[in-house]
Amino acid sequence: MLLSRTVSVRALKGALLSSLLLASSAFAEDEVHWGYDQTLSPEHWAELPGDALCGQGVMQSPIALVTAGAAHPQQAVPSFHYATSHVRMVNTGHTVQFNYDTGSTVRVGANEYKLAQFHFHTPSEHTKDGVEYPLEMHLVHTDANGTPALVVGVLIQEGALNAALFTAFRHLPRHAGEQSSPVGALINASALLPHDKAFFQYAGSLTTPPCTQGLQWYVMKNPIELSDAQIAAIERLPHLNPNNRPLQPLNGRTVSVHSGH
Ligand SMILES: [Zn+2]
Repeated sequence: MLLSRTVSVRALKGALLSSLLLASSAFAEDEVHWGYDQTLSPEHWAELPGDALCGQGVMQSPIALVTAGAAHPQQAVPSFHYATSHVRMVNTGHTVQFNYDTGSTVRVGANEYKLAQFHFHTPSEHTKDGVEYPLEMHLVHTDANGTPALVVGVLIQEGALNAALFTAFRHLPRHAGEQSSPVGALINASALLPHDKAFFQYAGSLTTPPCTQGLQWYVMKNPIELSDAQIAAIERLPHLNPNNRPLQPLNGRTVSVHSGH
């Protein structure tokens, strides 16, 4: 198993290098060097140039979310202003990412953040009350400078078929560097949020190199459902399972929980 994973990583790197030679703009060269296997695994990310925060940072993500231990402060609630987007998927070699059309935002107090993309991890990165979910979705929002600043995490459990992802998940880009934009396919990310908007909130980081800190995390307390076949469609993508970073220490940070509405 370990041996075959090693071969897989080599094949992946080969595929990535090929795409670089073809002058694909989808990859920065530094993205070739990290992964979730053996010498490329999360335990070694901090050894890579520019990625020291992955080892030294004290406000890292993901974390174990625990309802009983969470604080209940008065805090601003995010409001979602998501419009419909074309389905534009890319297999980055680390995840399948849906690049989102401009015009969708999350507002928290006086601040507004633009939805840039969402992507998937399998299994989940955050755990909730000790439970790991088969998938987790991250909706990445940028500030006025275009820097990732706020991430909404959505845990995913097996259940009913998710109609919003039906067409996209039948056309997932299977290999690193591949893009897929099914003709006429549209999606509204608001259909990927749970009805009950209860959430955990804490200050964390990117869960991939360079593990940049200063991100606001809002992880929905209630999971959404995808069918077993839809979950399997992600789980069976070559080289992307697993693509979750291990849990990181809390280091005294406060995690708050806000009830739904
Ligand atoms: Zn992510």
